Amino acid sequence: MAKKQIKGWDYSPAPESTSHIDLKKRYDLYINGEWVKPSSKKYFKTINPANEELLAEVAHANEKDVDKAVKAARKAYNEVWSKTSPSERAKYIFRIARLMQERSREFAVIESLDAGKTIRESRDVDVPLACNHFFYNAGWADKLEFAFPNRKIESLGVAGQIIPWNFPLLMAAWKIAPALATGNTVVLKPAETTPLTALKLAEIIHDSGLPPGVVNIVTGYGDTGAAIVNHEDVDKIAFTGSTGVGKIIQKAVAGTNKKTTLELGGKSANIIMDDAPLDQAVEGIINGIFFNQGHVCCAGSRLFVQESVYDKVIEKLKHRMNSLIVGDPLDKNTDIGAINSKEQLDIINGYLKIGKDEGVEMYQSTCDIPGNGFYCRPTLVLNVAQSSRLVQEEIFGPVLAIQTFRTVDEVIQKANNTPFGLAAGVWTDKGSRIFNLTTKLRAGVVWANTYNKFDPASPFGGYKESGFGREGGLHGLEGYLKMN
Ligand code: NAP
Ligand code: MG
Repeated sequence: MAKKQIKGWDYSPAPESTSHIDLKKRYDLYINGEWVKPSSKKYFKTINPANEELLAEVAHANEKDVDKAVKAARKAYNEVWSKTSPSERAKYIFRIARLMQERSREFAVIESLDAGKTIRESRDVDVPLACNHFFYNAGWADKLEFAFPNRKIESLGVAGQIIPWNFPLLMAAWKIAPALATGNTVVLKPAETTPLTALKLAEIIHDSGLPPGVVNIVTGYGDTGAAIVNHEDVDKIAFTGSTGVGKIIQKAVAGTNKKTTLELGGKSANIIMDDAPLDQAVEGIINGIFFNQGHVCCAGSRLFVQESVYDKVIEKLKHRMNSLIVGDPLDKNTDIGAINSKEQLDIINGYLKIGKDEGVEMYQSTCDIPGNGFYCRPTLVLNVAQSSRLVQEEIFGPVLAIQTFRTVDEVIQKANNTPFGLAAGVWTDKGSRIFNLTTKLRAGVVWANTYNKFDPASPFGGYKESGFGREGGLHGLEGYLKMN
């Protein structure tokens, strides 16, 4: 492997080992505490987007398989889980967290292999946070009466959970941990391109001794998710994914008794005021959009810079961007890994072409990228008009649309001028400005002088077309409870 050259610095390759990874050639469905073959008899391939090599074949669950999983979840709910004491429930959840922690290296490497995300992120962000979600929710399981004092609370029953490919294990943890803590049983479907860590999680769940049927993992694509949404014996739909699919789901559950939470797309604004500590802000902007290849629902994909510091910020951004290493996700030096799939790379390149056709000024870093696999150089779109599709639409890749502003009122108006409302970031030296901006930005999370910070205790979710309902914190538990 060639050495990486950055501004006179040599970095020798530092690849994470894969020798401790145990992947089966073929994975079946995890239903009722067993691995069962799909009645469709079909399997699909999951590949490593960094080199396009096959990782494993995975079962494609059809309507019949989903029905089997829902029946198992219903039986487990009626006969076991709803009668299990809260403190016993907590023990299982705690055990899952511990088992995941013990195997965290394995989870991190498999996540990087299957999703293309850098090992630095899967090791330092995804896996520890996923463990923490189980620990956090284990803590609440026997304290729900204190979490919601003077309320009569009841679990819902069977939760159907559908997750995307950008944080596969973490999203599974966000969904499963609160569902179990509140006494529900689960049928979870991971995304087509990233099923492996959810299947590894099934192994851990099995080892934890959780009663059969309490958690069922069904892999698939296309009709699999819809079969969960449309199943009449599912009491709750928890969905994280695109706004387009979120709208289909909301239509499908209309008129039913299904409780629903939708965590959807975003086009979040990062705002740099002229008094901001610029180096720190530039680092935050870079983290906000290039973290996880821009495959982050709350990515700071629109940057607003106050006019008087615009030139300085752009110069610093370009300089920092050119030091980022794009390449092998398993190399510990890599800053930006592989785009999750060929389809997603085509979508991103499609937007870059739109930018070219619109005649906007673009700047791409000059770094090398590997010859095979799916990669995209980090890209700035400069001085782009509000009407551009690059400003209006979620690209879900390492592309940052930059605009300027003069006054606080102007930037609030511009930042809110989007159908989304997931997150925002504010960079300024003045506390009063932070309070002014954060109260007026219509976004579920607003970070001040930082970006992309997550904690299991703090709720996460959107305004407008970014969805409704919250995950994490006490609010996250509420989504799985009936309250009187
Ligand atoms: P997606 O295409 O909406 O898919 C999400 C999940 O839904 C996948 O498991 C998918 O299965 C399944 N699905 C597809 N069509 C369905 C249908 N008709 N009924 C039920 N399920 C269906 O989204 P994605 O491309 O995987 O993920 C990227 C999106 O997720 C971005 O828009 C991002 O902003 C959003 N996201 C939001 C949050 C948040 O918390 N707000 C967090 C992470 C990601 P298959 O793809 O396997 O067919
Ligand atoms: Mg894959």
